[in-house]
Amino acid sequence: MPVNRTCWNCGARTDDDHRVRCDCGEPLWLATDPEAVPGEWPASIESMWDALPLLGVEAPTPPPGVSTAAGGTPLVRADSLDTEGVAVHVKLEGLNPTGSFKDRGTAFGVAAALEAGETRIGTVSHGNMAESVAAHAAATGMDCTVLVPADIADSRLAAIGRYDPRLVRVDGDYGRLYYDALEVGREAGVRFLNSDVPWRVAGQATTAIETLAQFGRGEGEFPDALVIPVSSGGHASATWQAVRTLTAAGLLDEPPKLCFVQAAACAPIAEAFARGDDTVTPAEGGETIAYSIANADPPSGNRALAAARATDGAVVGVDDDAIKRAGEQFAGAGLAVEPSSATTLAAIERLRSDGVLDAGDEVALVATGRGFGDDGVAVETERIDRSALGTLFDAAPGAEGA
Ligand SMILES: *Cc1c(COP(=O)(O)O)cnc(C)c1O
Ligand SMILES: [Zn+2]
Repeated sequence: MPVNRTCWNCGARTDDDHRVRCDCGEPLWLATDPEAVPGEWPASIESMWDALPLLGVEAPTPPPGVSTAAGGTPLVRADSLDTEGVAVHVKLEGLNPTGSFKDRGTAFGVAAALEAGETRIGTVSHGNMAESVAAHAAATGMDCTVLVPADIADSRLAAIGRYDPRLVRVDGDYGRLYYDALEVGREAGVRFLNSDVPWRVAGQATTAIETLAQFGRGEGEFPDALVIPVSSGGHASATWQAVRTLTAAGLLDEPPKLCFVQAAACAPIAEAFARGDDTVTPAEGGETIAYSIANADPPSGNRALAAARATDGAVVGVDDDAIKRAGEQFAGAGLAVEPSSATTLAAIERLRSDGVLDAGDEVALVATGRGFGDDGVAVETERIDRSALGTLFDAAPGAEGA
């Protein structure tokens, strides 16, 4: 399946199906053709494959199984989360097969690899992307190599290991490994589905397409902004690719503001945005509870920065206390989300005070991943003997009035 790919930065084009970075140093993405986009929003979306035609790329057919189930997640109006006059909708990416939006990019990548007759894939991740790639490989019988840091936590190993990939602990600079793996994989014929490779970006563009389609319900109403946690910049880039194409195809009058959120402790893109820089400088990389978005040297950082600027959006950082509070607010709305996803709600105040959002705006927060349950939530319990169960509700709040 020959696919043209282009560079967002210098406009270079290539037909080489295995090129993922441009000579200018920036990531490539698949060429989109707005003329190939259907003239109407889809009436219903059961999976990402119903949204993908709106990206105008040459799309592969998913293999049967888990890849067909990626996407098609609900967009819910959560009025208890409204903040400073901003109406909140939440895209529940935790409902993907392995619990995050990564399944969208993995499904596209696996389908493209199989169509090209390839049998070996890999990734550099110890988080959601590793789980996703290992799961899709297991389901399709593909050979899968996952490169993890040497000091990976046992709980992460177990989450990934259940799909039985080849797990390799790598000593040394884990950040540089992203580039090394792409190179080694290319030479060995192993397709590395890293965070911002063109196939992953194309699949992950469906998050935004679905969100806009679900919000609009064919009536031409769209959110004022999409708020998305950002780490590598892959999902942010994908969102930009989607709204650019939809605007060029005439399905959107103008793109919504793209607002990206990082954890303040590791926020290289937000810092570059605040400084007015065009390129991202690697951060020191401090600790944060938002473990899925702590990339100190994001490979698509410059592209995410450009996306925020081009759409009058912003990139902001939020601290761990605010992330924790936002996680509790999500839970209060019945939604378990990762701390990385909770950043989106925490960012609204800042986006309001910076003048990016106004009272009366409608925003879609992309809750990128489900909460694991061990997200540092302080839980209080009571304890009684079974023989005392009869007294359980004697002093319960509201017992008298009920
Ligand atoms: C991967 C991930 C992100 C960050 O996405 P990027 O494409 O790397 O910017 C955010 N939230 C969750 C839950 C993730 O798994
Ligand atoms: Zn280029």
